[in-house]
Amino acid sequence: MALDKMLLDETYHNKIQATWLTEQELCQVLDSLDKKDSKISEDLLSRDELLFKRILLQKIKKQWNSYRLWYLLNSNGSTHPEILKIDPESYVSYTGNYDWSITLWWKKIPPLMANKMIYFDSAFDYEKEMIWKLNHEMSHFVSETLLQQSAEFKKFYDTYILSPREVSGKWLTLLWSLETYQQRWGPEEQAVEDVTEMINMFILDPTYLFDSLSLLKTMNENFLQRYNLKRLTDNEIIHIVECIEMFVDYFFSTYEC
Ligand SMILES: [Zn+2]
Repeated sequence: MALDKMLLDETYHNKIQATWLTEQELCQVLDSLDKKDSKISEDLLSRDELLFKRILLQKIKKQWNSYRLWYLLNSNGSTHPEILKIDPESYVSYTGNYDWSITLWWKKIPPLMANKMIYFDSAFDYEKEMIWKLNHEMSHFVSETLLQQSAEFKKFYDTYILSPREVSGKWLTLLWSLETYQQRWGPEEQAVEDVTEMINMFILDPTYLFDSLSLLKTMNENFLQRYNLKRLTDNEIIHIVECIEMFVDYFFSTYEC
């Protein structure tokens, strides 16, 4: 069936609303679209929000740990396209407090802001940034679950994030060093965001987390002060990455069937 006929065909449209696209169906749709549409874009979102969400989630599925997390959330009903909201009114991305629904800020983050929020933001195109946003929101499921159910994780969080923050006002990720967040949120919420962002980075790519924390060893004092970041030693960096790896493994081994 030709794509235009497929999209106009009500039966087919109802079918894709009711079920996930199979890989074969997705390939059919992608092959039929212009080449630029094989990546998600603001333009695609304005034309077909459902297709935008499906392609975004299919891309998430191609990254192993993101896929595992997506699968867990999906079995919880949280990442169904109807629960994943791409909200043109929303200035930020957030996760619902009670139902794990996820709302994503659909605009590309302005470069000056992205530079202060995302480690190595120059490597992020629109699609990579949306994957980062969605994976961060999914990572809240990991951090909140572990904070409630793992005394070991709570101890790590208190020792390496919350307590040093109370003493020195310093953070471990670029995202939660932003002054606007400091003004808007209390230390407890900021600390949750700091650890969530480390889990996000690890799930996306363990090397990405390691490189991001390595900045805290190599950058000069001015940089660290400007971004309210804590100085770390080699041993601390390795220990933090190993702990995040251990807790992410624990999370998957405990909650995957
Ligand atoms: Zn967050």
